[in-house]
Amino acid sequence: SLESASADVARLTRWADDFPEPGVRFADLTPVFADAKAFRDIVDALVAIGGDADLVAGIDARGFLLGAGVALALDAGVLAVRKAGKLPPPVLSQSYDLEYGSATLEVPADGVDLRGRRVLVIDDVLATGGTLRATAELLASAGATVVGVAVVLEIEALAGRDRLAEYPLTSLLRV
Ligand code: AMP
Repeated sequence: SLESASADVARLTRWADDFPEPGVRFADLTPVFADAKAFRDIVDALVAIGGDADLVAGIDARGFLLGAGVALALDAGVLAVRKAGKLPPPVLSQSYDLEYGSATLEVPADGVDLRGRRVLVIDDVLATGGTLRATAELLASAGATVVGVAVVLEIEALAGRDRLAEYPLTSLLRV
């Protein structure tokens, strides 16, 4: 259930102050995914909001772990949304601003026809929302419909939710 998944995340998340840079409080979900019950609870909770998605997009890299588990349970395909430079060309790219500099996410431009696909986008943590927004825009530009966006942990103070207003957003735990 959503309640037990929330409790698992609250209990097992490993918090680190000033990582990877001063002022950031980093949520490391490694112990959450390593716990069999917690991983099961989380995947179950994400599956319950998955609706009629036929493709689950997991964001590099921790989104891959969740995306594969959720896709299997939904009987959907899984799509790895990669950081720049990992996929051979041709690729579709979406760049977005970070606090310092920028980042780029990519999916193949051929071989996977995203037109008409109903995609659930998954990542571990929602911070400023830039990563999830760029992913949703990348998939939409390829012709997919983003039917949902889901994260395990939402850091409310960073207001990422406001940048994702046009997508149904679920977080299992808000801090
Ligand atoms: P953002 O684009 O700011 O929402 O950042 C989201 C991405 O960066 C996710 O893929 C997260 O894994 C990672 N991230 C950003 N901030 C944090 C944080 N405080 N703790 C853990 N992961 C974070």
